[in-house]
Amino acid sequence: MHDFIIIGGGILGMSTAMQLKQAYPDRRMLLVEKEQAPACHQSGHNSGVIHAGVYYTPGSLKARFCLAGNRATREFCEAHGVAYEICGKLLVATSELEKQRMEALWERTAANGLEREWLSGEALREREPNITGIGGIFVPSSGIVDYAAVTRAMAAEFERLGGEIRYGAEVSGLEERRREVVVTTSQGECTGRYLVTCSGLMADRVIRMLGQKPGFTICPFRGEYYVLPERHNDIVNHLIYPIPDPSMPFLGVHLTRMIDGSVTVGPNAVLAFKREGYRRRDVSLRDLAGMAANPGLLKVLGSNLRPGLAEMKNSLHKRGYLELVRKYCPSLSLDDLEPYPAGVRAQAVSRDGKLVDDFLFVNTPRTLNVGNAPSPAATSALPIGAHIVEKLKKQVAD
Ligand SMILES: Cc1cc2nc3c(=O)[nH]c(=O)nc-3n(C[C@H](O)[C@H](O)[C@H](O)COP(=O)(O)OP(=O)(O)OC[C@H]3O[C@@H](n4cnc5c(N)ncnc54)[C@H](O)[C@@H]3O)c2cc1C
Repeated sequence: MHDFIIIGGGILGMSTAMQLKQAYPDRRMLLVEKEQAPACHQSGHNSGVIHAGVYYTPGSLKARFCLAGNRATREFCEAHGVAYEICGKLLVATSELEKQRMEALWERTAANGLEREWLSGEALREREPNITGIGGIFVPSSGIVDYAAVTRAMAAEFERLGGEIRYGAEVSGLEERRREVVVTTSQGECTGRYLVTCSGLMADRVIRMLGQKPGFTICPFRGEYYVLPERHNDIVNHLIYPIPDPSMPFLGVHLTRMIDGSVTVGPNAVLAFKREGYRRRDVSLRDLAGMAANPGLLKVLGSNLRPGLAEMKNSLHKRGYLELVRKYCPSLSLDDLEPYPAGVRAQAVSRDGKLVDDFLFVNTPRTLNVGNAPSPAATSALPIGAHIVEKLKKQVAD
């Protein structure tokens, strides 16, 4: 019998396992992961940005955890020798409409407690000679890191403290009893007094295994990238983002300096036909049936039809994609966009037709489950893990 079992070897599962072991060093803990290594899904296929917390609704979990996570991620990287860089982020306005939106964003960054600088078009050019715009906001605390490396360091720390990790163990059944939770995996059965699930793109399925009806379905949205040729590695000094449409802040292709020195362009957001399916041709009938069974998804697609179709078109036509980035980086050409692996986001869609915006947890007497953890959940992984540990401490005490 284990005291705690954690499902999911992404950054949230590893962060929680590590902090749980730090809080309860003498308790037996097991983390089960279906893949053969940590960070095989979202935590290893993302932009690698340590977000500052620009867009999030003030007071939301995202705003709180992102701000705390920005600092905690840097401290963790320092302590565990993981490479990171605080290179700052520039939000660039390229039209009068975007300039107006920039003013609203300026207020929001103040409400979220961020240090930032207002840049005129001229100041923008001085900071970024290859970027064109009529103004911008500079946020110095944004940074870059390899989140797969962070996840591996968390896994190593969990094991150093005596935690056990079982890779290649896919969970197929859960039974919550009065005093324990029975977990059925492809490597056999195990029992824990408490269970935490951080199963990313499978979050709703794992929660349903407990007999819960979560009221949302995870819908996969592929994020496709390109990488610039090596000769462009110095094209920008900071992370470059367009000023987003406030109703769809997650849309907007950005230029991202990666920690390995390369520069990526992306990601877009296209509905995928398979959870954990990274190629356009990947289709899962089971996943499609799950999406079709949620009437909320149709509503979401209907109310976002125009931007959704535009994203699909630009996904299929590289030139359309290029124009998105040429708005603020006009020197780039089609040949500059080289292939780069896509990522798939897990986004909870409620049955009443909303994209669940904030982080969401589903609790039962003996289990704590992460239901919705889209970006900036990698940045926020340490505070999210700490939050789960605090909740569990209360459950254990009751
Ligand atoms: C394209 C893209 C760009 C992003 N950019 C950023 C960014 O720049 N900054 C940022 O902060 N965030 C970013 N994010 C978000 C961030 O990557 C995710 O929010 C975060 O990685 C979620 O971590 P997780 O542990 O919940 O999920 P995952 O990393 O997906 O891990 C879940 C794990 O659970 C396992 N699992 C699932 N079901 C089972 C089962 N039945 N049995 C056993 N194991 C199971 C999976 O195999 C997987 O390893 C981005 C995401 C994407 C997709």
